[in-house]
Amino acid sequence: MTLPAKSAELIERRSRFLGPNVSTFYDEPVHFVKGEDVWLWDADGRKYLDCYNNVPHVGHCNPRVVEAICRQASTLNTHTRYLHDGILDYVEKLTATMDASLDTAILTCTGSEANDIALRMAEGMTGKRGIIATDATYHGNTALVSQLSQSNVPTVGFGLDHYFRFVKAPDSYRNPDPDGTRFAEAVAEQIAEHEKAGTGFAALIVCPYFLNEGFPDHPDGWLKPVAEVVRKAGGLLICDEVQSGFGRTGTHMWAHQKMGVVPDIMTMGKPMANGHPVGGVATRSEILATFRKGYRYFNTFGGNPVSCAAAMAVLQEIEDRDLVTNARTVGTHARTRLNKLQQKYDFIGDVRGSGLIFGAEMVLDRTSKEPASEFTDRVINAMRHRGIIHSKLGRHKNTLKIRPPMPFSVENADLLFDTLDGVLAETPLIS
Ligand code: PMP
Repeated sequence: MTLPAKSAELIERRSRFLGPNVSTFYDEPVHFVKGEDVWLWDADGRKYLDCYNNVPHVGHCNPRVVEAICRQASTLNTHTRYLHDGILDYVEKLTATMDASLDTAILTCTGSEANDIALRMAEGMTGKRGIIATDATYHGNTALVSQLSQSNVPTVGFGLDHYFRFVKAPDSYRNPDPDGTRFAEAVAEQIAEHEKAGTGFAALIVCPYFLNEGFPDHPDGWLKPVAEVVRKAGGLLICDEVQSGFGRTGTHMWAHQKMGVVPDIMTMGKPMANGHPVGGVATRSEILATFRKGYRYFNTFGGNPVSCAAAMAVLQEIEDRDLVTNARTVGTHARTRLNKLQQKYDFIGDVRGSGLIFGAEMVLDRTSKEPASEFTDRVINAMRHRGIIHSKLGRHKNTLKIRPPMPFSVENADLLFDTLDGVLAETPLIS
């Protein structure tokens, strides 16, 4: 592997100034210098199709978002203790996309902060601290929410781990649970364990589309049984829509709507302001009021006028360009193309997804379903060399993760799958 001189220099400086273990994607990390819509350019002027990034939700350097940021930044930017229309207009428009019960919000700068607040809201409402999550998820990096990442258990974190219990992440391919009742039973068992341990049960936190877990194929309404179990036990349901929200699944604005439930608390982030750092927590007014009584929350940057202008422009773009319908149409086409590839290649064990989150699970053998994790890695690196950016995820890191910006078109999908077909044909299953 010979890296371009500039990339090698940047890697050396990253390790010198940012410390060890700062991850990069790919065997040969890419140095992007420009983005536009679904396209990225590297330092050598090479163009890539972005099939991975959900943060530039309405397209890289979206002109409407850029204009909104520039306009507001050149007018006024302050913290949130002065009166300003921007945050109110935004929260009013945002909560109008949700169930009427979710009528208030706090704006943050990251998804991690939003989840941290959500857990503390649950503690405030229930007087308990026991949290349940899946064992293959990620909800962020604060001392509290980092305890939820079983794949990377922190050795530092103030000893909060006894408040967290885990259930096996759903897996529609290897261990189907078609109506969600087994997942609900597993959560009920962990609620009982929390009660027995004396922590009590405060909340279940899940991504309603289980994106980090590998987006198992679940029918609409799948979360209903578990929501019932949670409520019966007096706990709250927290839906982390950091990845699944803002129309990503192509059928609804929020994935919990697809899964047939209304959460008590919902958290948001990543795509919310197209790369400008904005996150949020939406909830019922009594939950927010209880939280604010127990904790006088203030966030210097969360909900500042520039962030709100950027976030508002994203909502307007989704609406005016009907990007949720686009996600559905292009996602349906993508799955058809993936299904055709599955007929051609035995190592594609399963095809999954909804809207503009889709992918395929790679296996060494369709009967044993043994994960082809190392093969998946080689495919992703080969795709990068052919100008297509995507990644992998799931417990075995053998599921192609394709999650492009929302303006992704049928033509873009065809370029992706024509290239993938060529790469799959040339990449040996065993190296
Ligand atoms: N929740 C989910 C589901 C996520 O995927 C992530 C980030 N990958 C987070 C929360 C954390 O968000 P942030 O990086 O903005 O803190």
